[in-house]
Amino acid sequence: MVSTPQTLMEMYRAARRHFGHQGWWPGDGALEICVGAILTQNTNWANVEKAIANLKAADALSVSALHAMPLQALARLIRPAGYFNIKARRLKNFIARVHEQSDDDIEAFLDRPAQALREELLSISGIGRETADSIVLYAAGKCTFVVDAYTCRILLRHHLIDADYDYEAVKELLESALPHDIKLFNDFHAQFVAVGKHYCRPKARCAGCPLEHLPHDPLAGTEAY
Ligand code: SF4
Repeated sequence: MVSTPQTLMEMYRAARRHFGHQGWWPGDGALEICVGAILTQNTNWANVEKAIANLKAADALSVSALHAMPLQALARLIRPAGYFNIKARRLKNFIARVHEQSDDDIEAFLDRPAQALREELLSISGIGRETADSIVLYAAGKCTFVVDAYTCRILLRHHLIDADYDYEAVKELLESALPHDIKLFNDFHAQFVAVGKHYCRPKARCAGCPLEHLPHDPLAGTEAY
């Protein structure tokens, strides 16, 4: 019988053979990664790139500049990312915490154990689990698994989780089954995003999917998305 760790590693290897190493996170430096992680919720990455380009053009991609900027001015700059008023407030909340705790030094703010950093981020209003874990893994370079809707949909369709999953249970499953290797966690999440974007969409496109050879039910969870 094939174990969950074996199945997960086969999924990763098959996806990587198909897509190649994904080289995540797309972003230049820790602050840009944090900003991208906050802006990317409920939008596609191309829109986030436009918002980050606006911040760069305004010379606003620093903790001090973001902290000094009025909320409405920030919302205008990040408008391409969608939900810009909500995201501007989330960004301001995050930046205020960095300002208070680390004197605008993002590297110092991120420099703490993974669990402590995760808890700190989750205590900031508007920062959810996926965003917090993205910052811990990709900006701070610490071992935590990032779970998202693609991850859950793929694992559900491949019989590795039940329909009543929750974020922490899926994270625990992955972290207990996989070797704690930052490079693996980094690229594993990126591979699942690639599978989800290209094949495991709300209506599964299994033909040609790199995970097609593994047992799966393409209709599982269809009603949930
Ligand atoms: S598209 Fe089909 S084969 Fe690919 S991950 Fe989804 S359920 Fe599995």
